Amino acid sequence: MIKELEKLISLHDLDVMISDLANKDISKQEKKLGLSPDSAAERLQKMRSKLALTIDRKYRDLYDQLASHYGNAVVPVVNQLCSGCFTQLPTAFCASPERNDQVETCPSCGRFIYWCN
Ligand SMILES: [Zn+2]
Repeated sequence: MIKELEKLISLHDLDVMISDLANKDISKQEKKLGLSPDSAAERLQKMRSKLALTIDRKYRDLYDQLASHYGNAVVPVVNQLCSGCFTQLPTAFCASPERNDQVETCPSCGRFIYWCN
């Protein structure tokens, strides 16, 4: 898998964690466990900012657009379906051995897509 794609997936994972920490129920549970969700959120934000700076500007801008529009900008392809919009992707597209060697977007919803297998 190419670095740019790995970074986009990591950016998405960080955004999910940051958003989870902003969730009051999850935050309450973390405090019960003796964790400090506020400082964790701050650290995750710093990690996110650092990571975002290393991502190609065009991908970063597209990521931000997709994230604000859909909530999730990077989704896996499962059984040739985009897991964002459930569109069946063309077989040739899915069969390519280099499918994770470039940054691809879903032809239907435009989200970044990657293959797990
Ligand atoms: Zn899609």
